[in-house]
This record gives sequence, C-alpha cells and structure tokens, in this order.
Amino acid sequence: MPTPHARHGTCYPAAARETTLDSRAESSSFYFWSKPIVSKPGPDRVILAVAVPSPLKRVFDYLPGRDAPEEGWVAGVRVRIPFGRRSVIGVVIEVRSHSDVPLDRLRDIEALIDRSPLPADWLWLCRFAARYYQHSLGETINGAMPALLRQGRPLAARSQARWFMTASGRTPDDALTRAPRQAELLAAIAQHPRGLVAPAISALGFNRTQLNALRDKGLIDCREESVAAPVSDRPSGTLAEPTLPLNREQAGVLAELHQDLDRFRVSLLHGVTGSGKTEVYLQLIEAVLDRGRQALVLVPEIGLTPQTLSRFRKRFNAPVIALHSGLNDNERLDSWEAARSGRAAVLIGTRSAVFTPLASPGVIIVDEEHDGSFKQQDSLRYHARDLAIVRAQHDGVPIVLGSATPSLESLARARDGHYRHLRLNTRAGNAAPAALSLVDLRGKPQRGGLGPQALTAIREHLEAGRQVLVFVNRRGFAPTLTCHQCGWLAECPQCDARMTLHRDPHRLICHHCEQQRGVPDACPKCGSADLRPQGAGTERAEEALQEAFSDTRIMRIDRDSTRRRDAMEQTLAEIRQGTSCLLVGTQMLAKGHHFPHVTLVVVVNADGGLYSADFRALEHSAQLLTQVAGRAGRAQHPGRVLIQTLHPEDPSLRLLVEEGYDALAEELLTERRLAGLPPFRFMALMRGESARMEAVIELFTRAGDAMRAWLNERGLAVHCLGPVPAPMERRQNRYHAQLLLSADRRSALHEASAWLDEWMMQQADARRLRYSIDIDPQEMY
Ligand code: ADP
Ligand code: ZN
Ligand code: ZN
Repeated sequence: MPTPHARHGTCYPAAARETTLDSRAESSSFYFWSKPIVSKPGPDRVILAVAVPSPLKRVFDYLPGRDAPEEGWVAGVRVRIPFGRRSVIGVVIEVRSHSDVPLDRLRDIEALIDRSPLPADWLWLCRFAARYYQHSLGETINGAMPALLRQGRPLAARSQARWFMTASGRTPDDALTRAPRQAELLAAIAQHPRGLVAPAISALGFNRTQLNALRDKGLIDCREESVAAPVSDRPSGTLAEPTLPLNREQAGVLAELHQDLDRFRVSLLHGVTGSGKTEVYLQLIEAVLDRGRQALVLVPEIGLTPQTLSRFRKRFNAPVIALHSGLNDNERLDSWEAARSGRAAVLIGTRSAVFTPLASPGVIIVDEEHDGSFKQQDSLRYHARDLAIVRAQHDGVPIVLGSATPSLESLARARDGHYRHLRLNTRAGNAAPAALSLVDLRGKPQRGGLGPQALTAIREHLEAGRQVLVFVNRRGFAPTLTCHQCGWLAECPQCDARMTLHRDPHRLICHHCEQQRGVPDACPKCGSADLRPQGAGTERAEEALQEAFSDTRIMRIDRDSTRRRDAMEQTLAEIRQGTSCLLVGTQMLAKGHHFPHVTLVVVVNADGGLYSADFRALEHSAQLLTQVAGRAGRAQHPGRVLIQTLHPEDPSLRLLVEEGYDALAEELLTERRLAGLPPFRFMALMRGESARMEAVIELFTRAGDAMRAWLNERGLAVHCLGPVPAPMERRQNRYHAQLLLSADRRSALHEASAWLDEWMMQQADARRLRYSIDIDPQEMY
C-alpha cells in the first residue's frame, strides 16, 4: 500500500502528523464505521487530533496549550489552531495519548471555542460521509455546519423576550390612570394569552421604558425563548387541526408504520401521485411528536414550497422549521440550534438538511426519494437519501422513503426484502387515475411542437372551462438555430453542444456554460438568410399557443419566467383559483404541485430519455413523465394525458403508457441485472478535466493501468473500465474524461477507489488537472 502524500506539499504545518482515516481495515456493509468517537485521554499526555477545513484527507495533531475544558478533552469541540501561516477553526476528532510526530514539533492550539462538544451523532454522520464518499473530513464537517459556527461563533441561538401578563395585571386598579400608553400596552399584551414577543411589541409602537414600567408595577413579566422555535400561541396538545379520516389503504399503511416507531426499519411508501402519502407522513409524525421525539423531513429542491410548509405548520401545534437556501446566517444557526436542543419538533429541508443535528430523533422521511436533487454533484458528492438511511440506522429510528415512482435502487431493496414495501394504489379523495395515450407525431404538421391532435384536445378542454398543462422539457425558444441551405447549426464555441435560441432576450445561449451571443441575420457559413429555429422550447410553445388560443390566459413556468422570488408563487396562486387557462412549463411544473383544475396534460416530446448514453436516462424520463401525468385530474374531473412521440412503437414507451411505471421499472430492473449495472452492481466514477484532452487521457490511462495491475495482484473482484472521453467531451473549453470502477460488493469497490485516490495524490501531474471520485454516481456525464 502506498503511503498517502499531501496533495499540496506546502500548506500544512510541518508539525502536523499524517493520519489517514483508514477505511481498509473495516467492515464491508453499507452501514459500517460506527466506532465510538470519544476516546479516553491517556494519563500523562493529551494530543488532539483535529479535522481541518482543507482538501487533505487526514487529521492533524496539536497540543492543548493552556486552555482546557472543565470536563476534560473530548471529541467534538471546536478549536482555533495555527495551520500553515493561517489561523483556522477545526474540530477535535480524537483525544490521544501519543503522536507519531515528536512532541516538540507539535504546535499548541490557539484557543478552545466550545465548552461542550458538538453533537456526537452529527459528528458520527460527518465521519461516515467523509469516509464513504472519500472526501476530506474537515471539509465535510465544514459543509455540514452553519456558516457562523464555521467562523467560530459560539453555539447559541438568538433569543428574544416574550412578555406576558401576570395575575395582578388582570386587575391593574388605578395603577395606570395617569399612564395611558402603559394601559394600552397592557391591553395589547392581555389579548395574547401566551404573551407577545419583543419585536411584535415594538412593531406596535411601544418601547422598552413602557415595558419596564409595567414590569416594575408587577403587571407583566417576561421570559427568554429561541427566535427560531418560539412558544406556540395555540392551545397545548400535538395537533393544531384535526386529521383527515384515512381511507383503508392509508390506514393499513399507517398501522404498519406504527409498529416500528422505536427501531430502525426502512419502509418504501410506494403510492401513486395523489394517493395521500403526505397525509400518512403527517399522521406518522403526530405519533412521533406524541412520544416527545423529533421528525426530519427531506424534500426535493423544488418541493419545499410555501404550501408544503403551511400544510405541516397548520397541522402541528409545535415548532416546524424549514431549512432552505433563503435563510440568512443567523437564521440558519438559530434553526440548527433549535433542532440540536430539541426545541424544534419538525425539521423540513432539502438535501443538506440530512446533516441537521437532532436532540431526540424519532423518524426520518424522504419524500420523492427518487428525485435527482438529493445527490450533490460537487465537493462532497453525497446522496442525502442514502445518508438518511445510514443515519436512521445509527439513531435507531424508522425511515420512510416515499415516491410514486421509486428509484430502481429502492425498488430492488424492497423486492429483496431489505425494505418494507408499502403500497397506496388508489388516489385519495376518489379521483380517478388519468388515462395516458401516445400520440404519433410522425409526418404531422406542428405549431410550437404541438400536433393537430393535441391542439384539438386543448381546445376541447379550454372550451369546457378547464385548465390545461403543456409540458416541454426545454426552456428557451428552440433547442437550436439551423440553416436550411447548408445545415449549419448554432454550436457553442466552448462546448460540444448546441446553443439554445431565446426570445426574450433575443440571444443564443449555451445552457452548459452560459455563453451568450447575438442571433445572426444570415448563416455564418453560407450566407443564406434562411435560418430557422429547430424544435420547440417553452417560449415557442407559449407563442404558438397564444396564437392558436388568443383569448386564453397563458402562463409560462420555467427557470427564466420565475427568476423573481415571488413570481412562481403568484402564478401558482392564480392557477389555484381555477379559471380556465393554459400552463406551459418545464419540470418545475411536474413536481410537488397540486393542480386540481387541470384535466389535460400534453407532453410535447417524450423521446428525450429513449436514446441516451446514460443507462439511467430511461428511468429518469419515465419518472418525470409519470409525475407530469400525475398532475392531471386530481379533483372531481378525470384527467387525460397525451404523450407526443416520434417513436410510437418504442417498447419502453408503450409499456409505460399501457401498464404504468411499475411495469416498466420491472423491465428495467431485469435489464440492469443482466447488464451488471446498478442497483445490482456498485460503481465509482473518476472524472477528470483539463484544458488539453491528452493531459487527462494520458494520466487516466496510467491510472487505469496501475489500477488494473493492483487489482490483479490483490485478486479483488473490481472491474476497471476506461479511460473514455465523457459523453460531452468539451465543456467550457475544458476536456472531460472518466474512469469507471464497478464491483459486486461495496467493500471491494471502496478498497479499490481508496487505492486509486491515494495513487492519484502521488502523481505530480494530477495537481495540474481537476479530478474527483464519485461514489455511487447518479449521472454518467
Ligand atoms: P401524495 O403526497 O401521495 O401526492 P397527498 O397527501 O398530497 O398525496 O394527497 C392528495 C390529495 O388528497 C390532497 O388534496 C389531500 O388533502 C387529499 N387527501 C389525502 N388523504 C385523504 C383522505 N384520507 N381523505 C380525503 N382526502 C385526502
Ligand atoms: Zn448555411
Ligand atoms: Zn457552452
């Protein structure tokens, strides 16, 4: 085994000891590495092994200096340390009695920051993630912490005073006859049985002096509470509103889930869109809150909408905290602290919320578990669903993965009995499932991508006063611009990709590198003026529909039309009012939203995923089509879904339309098994990029050769494929290539990829290009 070397030889202190978190000696399952992290300091010497925010995959030894916590040194406290010429914040990972570095070469820490350690379970999860995804522990910890903690701020939430009336406040007698403002303030507070918080009081125009005066008279008093998780104004008890009576299927599922409230168990809640999964989550959480525990709910990036939140907030008489990108640093720290201290009852957040510490975890729910946004595509390339499962096991709590279109990974685990498979086959509230049909677009005239059959159906539904949703998988006006004389295509000068034609602003834009240019009047190659947009994006569909249905209100929803923060909400509110209209949008429309008045969904082009190089493309495209189709006919009117295609005979598409997602998923699983692909094998993908293709290929060829030689020598059943150029070779003038490892066992794959990582770190030329290793990659680009 080669010794790991530092990637950047100069940036760490000479005194630091090299300590690799060695993954090799440990066990083989996905749920490994649960060693205790608090080790007893030896009798004489205290050495602190500290994780430092740097790409180096090692911890560094320091001496405690004069600072010492009262209870003695434990893992999990933050320290300020000298690191190279800088001073940084690190976290003590282990307290040891010896170091491999001579003691006189170790440096002292500069300061101790925490009196008590950061949560042990949280630190455990960071360590797991760093090892599993082969990332620096210091960077992992850094990314899993609110920015203010990273900067060394104390772990304390902001608090605010809540003022309430005392018993004598009820009978002020004549104490306030000559203080009318104080009397008004007292009356204002009296209206709120649980009191008023200081900001609300100043918003009413009262000040500190008046408050103090009332307190000095004994009429009011105050207590401090957390800003993020204030005391509820509602009466006590878990529920703030009655639950819906469950239908038989829901009741059956909930009864099953109730059986395992006190232990780790993974359940796949596989329920068609609109089957009432969210209602099941809510009632499961109710049972968890009744036991005094907390719930963590992970939702896709697009799913954390004000409606979702208000559905949870309306239900529970307990603090429901949302963790989203709109929080500022203070709010983020407050939320973290409310979760850690147990003041928050329900935490709802996107991917990174999986790292939220909980005082008494009771359940984890991953909604739309198949969603791609759970996988982080840079830095620590983790999958939040997979980490959530590991975390639930560590915490000994149940976890529910919910989806109408489960990932093949989860389906396979449900079929082999590792997960409990719970089904909801009917829509709640008796809405009938939408009827899907394929529409052959070959040889048909098109307007904005829509054929005659779709246009007729749209007219019928609009005339009946209904809403229609048109789903287009590309934003912009047209996927590209082409010359009808010579066949020239508008290509990005920096990428192996076409530029998308946009109408507003009228530009050609590359969606891969954001490069923009003006739209030419004549063909740059042959000079012809016959330039035509090719294909249809949302803007073109919108334009064509506006021409065809000039009296109809058309709303476009895509990344361009919703750049303003509240634009999406305004549009959605208008749609919910139910007046007849046409919605045109990308997948932003397909996920999470309820459109009870939509009775027709038109999919402009279903062929995107059919012929892709990525083996997951068909799975993802089937999930998306099913989710879009699920938007139709949620209320009393049955829905129809028209799927336009140029490949009406394609067997996968037919299977999806005729028998549904589950049938197609079965087929895909069989294919994956035969082809030796995930979920039946495990993969790691090393990606590299450089300004010169030869540089990546040359290094990756040596890496592949060295890897294969080592695998051979070790007799390890890991397959190493490549290097090959990435499916899109050139992006932003950089060349991409990859090397793929695959294995039947995770442990073998990990052993191999850890070796590869170390080998790369020893190559001088590896420092000149960017590379990364992605464990369980979701996309093969
Ligand atoms: P999913 O999460 O599976 O898409 P939801 O929980 O959002 O489904 O439920 C879909 C719709 O059905 C919602 O409007 C919800 O209020 C309603 N619903 C859910 N459960 C019931 C029930 N037991 N009785 C009546 N309506 C229900
Ligand atoms: Zn031309
Ligand atoms: Zn580009």
